[in-house]
Amino acid sequence: MSNKQNAAGRRRYGAIEAGGTKFVCAVGDDDANILDQVRVDTRDPATTMAEVNRYFGAAVNTFGPLTSIGVGAFGPLDLNPSSATYGHVTTTPKPGWKNFDLVGALKYGTGRPVQLDTDVNAAALGEWRWGAGAGLDSLAYVTVGTGIGVGVAHYGRAVHGLMHPEIGHIFVRRHPDDAGFPGICPYHGDCLEGLACGAAVVARTGRALKDAPASDPIWAIEADYLGQLCANLALSHSPQRIMIGGGVMQTRLYRTVHERMLHWLHGYIGAAELQSTGYISPPGLGGSAGILGALYLAISANQGTVTA
Ligand code: ZN
Repeated sequence: MSNKQNAAGRRRYGAIEAGGTKFVCAVGDDDANILDQVRVDTRDPATTMAEVNRYFGAAVNTFGPLTSIGVGAFGPLDLNPSSATYGHVTTTPKPGWKNFDLVGALKYGTGRPVQLDTDVNAAALGEWRWGAGAGLDSLAYVTVGTGIGVGVAHYGRAVHGLMHPEIGHIFVRRHPDDAGFPGICPYHGDCLEGLACGAAVVARTGRALKDAPASDPIWAIEADYLGQLCANLALSHSPQRIMIGGGVMQTRLYRTVHERMLHWLHGYIGAAELQSTGYISPPGLGGSAGILGALYLAISANQGTVTA
């Protein structure tokens, strides 16, 4: 075990929140302490990964050997361990990143084991371990920003399958005041993300949701689509709590999203917990859910509780 521990006998882990605009890289420990953190701008893969690998190379000199590195990444990702392209980013429209071997580049650059999951699955696990989902059997983590991502965790394990769920791209019923908007998803047009992500709001109104006046119908439209998402999550995954974060989400939306979820469920699910406004809440870890989730991926792989 000595090669997995620093001189003080405590394990150190690498963590990466890999996003479309930035890679947050950090070193942490088993108790969710972030000991160091940097931001690396996301550019082409070679430039970005060289900087990321340089950071972890230098971090070893300061903190000692890293037991492993956990990564919560934008995707879609190939998470099937038996696949020849396991650990690759797959169909992203982001220039240069399509079919990029993210896990391979990190393993090659750092020489450490790498645990990969989607950014939202990692955040869901972080919330389950240390945040607003602590102690729950089932939870969902939603981020509404440049896209819409949803991570689902059951009993401390993120949901995988063919690859991983892409719940942001589900189809929702059109709000009657939103009939003329075609949606902006390059794959589906008016899927949930195409109708309700930050860029979709700007495409309709010319401004971010937070800058829209209270009288703007976009508030009700946004709340309705996110309410439909929550209703679909309750129907499909039965989460005990839904956490919603991201740059589009505003404090006043939580109540109206909850109202619209109950509207669409129409009393069908009898669980009393659904009636509580706390059923839909901000992430307990706030903006740190992603990086702490990545840290948890690294830790849990060494505890045998989560596998990629
Ligand atoms: Zn879509």
